[in-house]
Amino acid sequence: MPLIDSHCHLDLYPNFVEILERCEEKQVYTLAVTTTPRAWPRNLELTADKQYVNAALGLHPQLVNETWQDELNIWEKYLSQAKYVGEVGIDAGMNFSHTLPVQQKVFRRILELCAEEGNKILSVHSINSARLVLDLIEEVLPLDKNKVILHWFTGTTTEAKRAVELGCHFSVNHKMLETQKGKALLDLLPFNKLLTETDGPFIQQNGKPTEPSGVIETIRLLASIKRTSPNSISQIIFENFMKLSIENNNS
Ligand code: MN
Repeated sequence: MPLIDSHCHLDLYPNFVEILERCEEKQVYTLAVTTTPRAWPRNLELTADKQYVNAALGLHPQLVNETWQDELNIWEKYLSQAKYVGEVGIDAGMNFSHTLPVQQKVFRRILELCAEEGNKILSVHSINSARLVLDLIEEVLPLDKNKVILHWFTGTTTEAKRAVELGCHFSVNHKMLETQKGKALLDLLPFNKLLTETDGPFIQQNGKPTEPSGVIETIRLLASIKRTSPNSISQIIFENFMKLSIENNNS
């Protein structure tokens, strides 16, 4: 059963090209998210002939600064080439709250442009900002024509329920599932909205950055929490990912 890594920063590994090949060999469907639209042309070029890896057009909320208008213009220029969008969203954590007003402006514009084109699948960051993120999605982006994957969701129970009602998907990683909060969150999520991610290279496994095939660790944890076999979890996650991509093509 092919594995799914729906949020990995492949272009931030020193051996990007080598890891791309390994995703193909090991049959790991990977969403290669980016942090700046300037990285898009190379990501698109390197993934164009790949069966298992798709590039996503990103503008990371932690990188939103004075030059946001330039970045957004470049992002907009490439949008028609991208089926997948990410990493985008809002970060209201301590270190980034000073850019919060601009982040909201940028994220709103990104959602508006996705809504205009339609058929996008977004991987969304929502640290300390789940309410803001969900407010904007609800207001701007129709989720019958687009799909949102909330990556590494850390919102409250109420926010998680609201996200489920809106029809969001959730990509979980092993770091989340090692915490009580992460496990509690899992109880609220419908199985058919669940995906797996690594968020590599920012997550380590055995002292080095995890690679997409490292989602097997998340699969094992999910299986143990849900008291079922890793195989049945893999099967569900794989079907969710396929359904997400196909439904989007048809809408
Ligand atoms: Mn990330």
